[in-house]
Order: sequence, then structure tokens, then C-alpha cells
Amino acid sequence: MKDKWALATKIIHAGHIKDSSGALVAPLCQSATFVFDSAEQGGARFAGDETGYIYTRLGNPTTAELERKMAVLEGTQAAVATASGMAAVSSALLANLSHGDHLVASKAVYGCTFSLMNNQLSKFGIAVTLVDFSDPQAISKAITPQTKVLFCETPVNPHLDVFDLDEIVAIAKKHGLISIVDNTFMTPLLQQPILHGVDLVVHSATKYLNGHGDVIAGVICGTSEQIDKIKFETVKDLGGVLSPHDAWLILRGLKTLDVRVERHCDNAERVVEYLLSHPKVIKVHYPGLKGSKGESLMGKQMRRGGGVIAFELDADLKASIAFVNHLQLFSIAVSLGDAESLIQHPASMTHATYDIEQREAAGIGESLLRISVGLEAAEDIIVDLEQGLAQV
Ligand SMILES: *Cc1c(COP(=O)(O)O)cnc(C)c1O
Repeated sequence: MKDKWALATKIIHAGHIKDSSGALVAPLCQSATFVFDSAEQGGARFAGDETGYIYTRLGNPTTAELERKMAVLEGTQAAVATASGMAAVSSALLANLSHGDHLVASKAVYGCTFSLMNNQLSKFGIAVTLVDFSDPQAISKAITPQTKVLFCETPVNPHLDVFDLDEIVAIAKKHGLISIVDNTFMTPLLQQPILHGVDLVVHSATKYLNGHGDVIAGVICGTSEQIDKIKFETVKDLGGVLSPHDAWLILRGLKTLDVRVERHCDNAERVVEYLLSHPKVIKVHYPGLKGSKGESLMGKQMRRGGGVIAFELDADLKASIAFVNHLQLFSIAVSLGDAESLIQHPASMTHATYDIEQREAAGIGESLLRISVGLEAAEDIIVDLEQGLAQV
């Protein structure tokens, strides 16, 4: 029966194991280490001859519930929770890349993912080529005998182009590469990359999964073989492990993921409609919009467009910034997926890790603004945008 449950049911029930107390909610196991009955038992756990907890960097009951749940939601065998979305991205990459290897990634990615690829990986002798992932030929052309991994986000941060996962996976399979997709913007409720044959799915759980703006966390989902390697080698040694308390908060947040995501999408659709009709808005970026990259994938690869919108004003940089400063309901903050509506300026904030040329190549203009539509009443969000735009 459990396999047949809708994802909306699974987000509430999957992964929960009733403990001896009968607690409805996963108890918070705030312990760094676990006591063995005997020295022999400790030895057996380290040797892997006996299952059981050892030390929270290697596993923890509360974190394990989150990992089981995320594996069910993404449709993978296993998952590992990490201290941040960046710990998820870096651990997934470092587990699969060694000195001399090559990575092909989308040129438009989250700012710190870009910085990791551009500034950190080369220190370890890992070469990176960034290409436009909407162009399968460009991906194929970038592949060399040293290439081991393909990495992208879809929709792309911050201008929301959508890439065809079937096409990307076909290239990965043809060349025997590991494909990694960052599914932060969609959550498994709107898109399940595994269904398209992707090998590893990474998340910043800081965003929609937790949904309350009070935790930094990440998750990686994949086969047991991959996750064991990432968890018991890379995350164990590099140390980007999630705190049990934060895992507990995410488990709490996840229960409302379905109702939150639907409301984020409903609100975003109304805001998109409003922005499209406004004379001072010259371009709106939202997945599935007419003429956008990957328009045809809406409904096929992704169920709805999500809660993030980018747009450009018919205004110079100064006037665009003044618009941001005039908003009253929106908070000026990076991040997304919270109850509060947020606005940010990618060129000077999330994507300040790019230099000007790299930014333009990635399609992130100076006047681009990104909003994360919150859970407030849609009419209040629109009224706030209206009074802000009146100042432009
Ligand atoms: C926020 C974000 C990250 C990084 O996550 P942190 O939890 O901030 O480390 C990675 N990818 C995407 C798409 C993000 O939005």
C-alpha cells in the first residue's frame, strides 16, 4: 500500500519508524556519540559486522529519518543529509571526481556552485568546462576522455530556463558519465530527476524542503552504493554533516511541503500574470512561459513552475535598485522557499561570484531582479509590487 501513496501522503509518513515510546513525531536524538554494550560490540560496529549507531558524523537516528524520507520522495535507494546545500553539491562532486578528472557543468548555476567549480576544484587538479545545457551539442563537444560527471540545475538560477533532463541523461549514458542534478527549486513534488535516469539529486534543504527560513542544510539522493561512498567517505572525512536538531526542524517543515508548494505556485502564477501586464516590466522569466527555453517541458518534466520569478524593468540599474528599496512587504534577502516573499538583485548579490563577462555569458544582466514568492495573500504581494513600480 505504501508504494501506492501519493507524494503528498509520503511527505508526511515516509521514513517514520515508530520507536518504543510510540512518539507520533520523530524524537530529537541530540547526542554526538552512542554507547556500546561492550568493546566487542564497538569493534563489530566499526567493522560493519553489526548495524547500529557509532558517532553522529557517521549517522544519527533523527537525521536517518530525514534521509529515509528524502530517498522515498526522490525515488532513490538512499539519501544522505548534509550541513548545507553547498556541502551536498561539493560532496557529490568530490566523491565522483579525482585529480586529473574533468567536469562538464551548466554555465548558469547557483553562485557558490559556480565559485566551487571556478575557484576550488582546480586546486585539486579537477578541470571544469561550463557550457549552455540547453544545447546538447555544446555538452557533447565539451566531453573529453577525462570527463566523469555532468552537473546542472533545472530550472536554472536565476533566470529560470528549463533544461531537458532526458537529453542530458542520454549524453551522460552514452559517455558513461555520472549525472548530478540540483533539484532545489522544484522539490520532488514538482520534478523527480531520477525518473529521467539522473544518477544523483542534490538539494539545498535550506529552501523549500525546510521552508521556514531557520535552517541551513542539504541532501543528496542516489543509489545505496553512491550514497554509502558519499556518506562514509566524503562527508565523513570532509565533515559537512547535518546537526540532528536541524534534521528535526526539516522533518517538521517537510510535513507541509505539499500545501506550501501548491500555494507558492498559485501565488507565483498570479504574480507572473501581473508582471507580464505591467508596462514597466520588459521581461519576465518563469518556467514554462511562452518563448522561454524548455517551454515544452512544462507538464512533462516538471509539474508546475515553482515559486521563483525573475524579471527585468524598463529602468537603469539605479532605478531598479530604488524599486527594490521601495517595497514594503518584500524583504530584501537572498534565499527562497520561505513563507515570506523575498527579493534580491542577482548581479550584486547571489551571483557576485561571477565576473562581468561570466555573468553576461550566463545571461544574468545588471537589471535582473529575482523574487521568491511567499505564502502571503497574492493580492497583498501584488499591491506591494504595484506601489514599488509606481516609483520607477
Ligand atoms: C541555496 C542554493 C544552494 C546552496 O545551498 P546552501 O544551503 O545555501 O548551502 C545550492 N543550489 C541552489 C539551487 C540553491 O538555491
